Amino acid sequence: MDHRNDEMDADRKRRCPRLGHEVGFRYCLMAGEEHSACWKTIDCWWEIFDVHTYLKNNLPEEQYRRLAAGGPPKNKVTSLLELVEQARKRAGKE
Ligand code: SF4
Repeated sequence: MDHRNDEMDADRKRRCPRLGHEVGFRYCLMAGEEHSACWKTIDCWWEIFDVHTYLKNNLPEEQYRRLAAGGPPKNKVTSLLELVEQARKRAGKE
């Protein structure tokens, strides 16, 4: 792992499509829920540098997998409805 490259990547900047002004990559790494990475991190940075490698090397594996899966985080109601639906299907099979 080359930490100098990681430092250079963390200092990169771009215009944020959500905020409408320039932000640093470091900001994106903590702009999500509970100071995790913003769900758009890969979408916003993949054309600028090898963001996949950076995230793989610097984030907990679970957080990286969530980002790589893409899409906005589900809200609690959506997650709850999905759990109810799964339970209903399981009950139907028994
Ligand atoms: S990753 Fe999120 S915070 Fe960063 S530029 Fe994209 S939308 Fe903005």
